[in-house]
Amino acid sequence: GGHAARGRRDLLLPGLHALDDRVGWISEGGLAYLCRRLTVAPAEAYGVATSYPLFSVTPRPATVLHVCTDLVCTAAGASALCAGIESRLGGLKALKGLEGGDRVAVRRASCLGLCERAPAALAVKTGDPVRTAVAAPATVETAVLAATAPDSAPQEPPAEAAVPRTGQPAPVLLRRVGVVDPSSVDDYRAHGGCTALRRAFALGPAGVLREIVDSGLVGRGDAAFPTGHDGRAVPVGRVWQAAASRPDQPRHLVCNAHESGPGAFKDRVLMEGDPYALVEAMTIAAYAIGARRGYLYVRGEYPRAARRMRRAVDRARARGLLGDDILGRGHTFDIEIRRGAGAYVCGEETAVLRSIEGYRAEPRPSPSSPSSPSENGLFGGPTVVVDVETLVSVLPILTEGPTASASRLVCVSGSVDRPGVHELPYGATLGELLARAGVSPDLRAVLVGGAAGGFVRPDELDVPVGSGVVIAFDGTVPLPRLLSRVAEFFRAESCGLCVPCRIGTVRQEEALHRLVDRAGPAAADDLALLREIGRAMRDASLCGLGRSAWNAVESGVDRLGVYG
Ligand code: SF4
Repeated sequence: GGHAARGRRDLLLPGLHALDDRVGWISEGGLAYLCRRLTVAPAEAYGVATSYPLFSVTPRPATVLHVCTDLVCTAAGASALCAGIESRLGGLKALKGLEGGDRVAVRRASCLGLCERAPAALAVKTGDPVRTAVAAPATVETAVLAATAPDSAPQEPPAEAAVPRTGQPAPVLLRRVGVVDPSSVDDYRAHGGCTALRRAFALGPAGVLREIVDSGLVGRGDAAFPTGHDGRAVPVGRVWQAAASRPDQPRHLVCNAHESGPGAFKDRVLMEGDPYALVEAMTIAAYAIGARRGYLYVRGEYPRAARRMRRAVDRARARGLLGDDILGRGHTFDIEIRRGAGAYVCGEETAVLRSIEGYRAEPRPSPSSPSSPSENGLFGGPTVVVDVETLVSVLPILTEGPTASASRLVCVSGSVDRPGVHELPYGATLGELLARAGVSPDLRAVLVGGAAGGFVRPDELDVPVGSGVVIAFDGTVPLPRLLSRVAEFFRAESCGLCVPCRIGTVRQEEALHRLVDRAGPAAADDLALLREIGRAMRDASLCGLGRSAWNAVESGVDRLGVYG
C-alpha cells in the first residue's frame, strides 16, 4: 500500500523498473505517481532515472533490441551485424509502412554478458510480463526474429552450454551446472544441496567463520573491482569476522551479481545453472555474520538469471530454506532480489550499495570517508558485500574441507573453439587454459582481466592465470581498433563523479581515435598525451574504474607494440 512505501527511498529503483517494464519508458506521470508514494522529490527521482542506461525518460518503442558492440562482440563482427540489422529493420518498415522506429528500437549496447556466444543480441519486449529473447550467436536473421517475434524466437541455449566439458578433473564449483534441474529444490538436494547449510548450523557462526579463515578464501570479484574498498585482495573470512563482531544491528549481506565488462559472464552461468547453490551460500554467509536480510543485486542485462533466482528464492522459502525457521533450526534469513539498470560501476561495492538505497550508482569517495562497508554500509549498518563465485566457493569448503577452494572460474571468450566458463586449479597457466579452450592458431593477443586488465603476447602465456576473464584475439580485427574499443567502453561507463576519470576517459578515446584514423606511424605527441592522461587517471581517480582505464591501452602500446 501507498502508506507502507512512504519514505522507502530504496524502493525507487524497483519502482522505476515497474514503470519501465510496463510501457518501456518512464513517463512524467508515472514518475510523479511513484514520487508521491515514496515521498521522493521528482527532480531527485528524475536524476536517478536518467543516470541508469537501461531506463529511458522519453518514449520508446515496445521492443528494444540491444545489440552488443562491446569488445568480444566487436571482434566477432558486431559492426557489420548492427548495420545489417538496421538496414533489415528499415526494409521491414518500408515494407509495412510503419513509422520510423515505432516497433523496434535498435540500441548499441555495452557488454550483455553473453560473450561465449558472441556476437550477441537481446530483445526486450515490454508489457506484463516482460518478454525477452536472446540471439547468440546472432545473425541478422536471428536478431530480427528475436526482436519481431520474441514468442517464437529461437530459445536461448541452456546454461550448461557455457560450461565446456573438456575431460579435465571433475569440477567443484560447476559440479551441478548442467546436471541439476535449476527449478527443483528436490533435485538440488539429490545432488548434495543443503549439506553445507546443515554443517554450518552444526558448527555455529564462529565455527563457520573459522573454517573460512582457515581456507584462505579471497574474494574473486570482478575484473575492475577485484577486491575490497582499498583495492587489496580481500581475505573473505577476516572481513566476515569483522562484520560479525560489530555491535550494531541490523547487519546486511549483499551479493553483488553485477558482473559486467567485456568477457565476464560466470555469475550468469552460476545463477542460471545452479540457483539454489547461491541461495544456500547466501544463507550460510548471513548466518555467519549475523544478518537477517540479504540483497541479491542482479545486473539488468540478465533477465533469465533474475527470473531463475526469483523462482529459486520463492521455492526455497516455501520449503523452509528461507524465512523464519530455516531447516527447523530457528534461524531467520530472507533474500530480496534487486535488478540493476546498466552502469558498470555497480561492480564497485560502495556503488552497488548506493544503488540499492535508491541513488545514482556512484562510488562513495574513500579518501573522505575511510570506513569500509563492514562498518558503515547499506542503510548505515555493517554490511558484507560479496560476489557470486566467492559465495558459492563457501559450499565445498564446508562440505569437503579447506582445500576445496583451490579452484577458480575463468570466463574464456574470443578466438577459441570452446568458449565458456572453465574451472581451473590455482596455478594453472594461461597457456594450459588456452590449450584446453582450443585457441586459434592465428592468436595475436590475449586480454587478461577484461577491459581493466592487460594484453599479453602469444609468447607470454607461461604464467599462472591471474584473473577470471580471458579473451583471445586473432587477426580478424586490427589491434588499434580493439584498443579504441576499450577506450570507448571506459568513456561510456565513467560515472562522472571525479574529474580525472570523467575527462581522462574522453581524452584517451579521442587520442586513440586519432591514432586509428591517421594512416602511417603514430604521432609521438599523441602517445605522450596518452601516457600523461593514463597516469593521471591511475593516480587520481576515485574508484577502480578510473584507476584501471589506462591498463589495457598501456599494455597494448608497450607489450603488443601496437603503435611501435
Ligand atoms: Fe566515477 Fe570514474 Fe570517478 Fe569511479 S573513477 S568515481 S567511475 S568518475
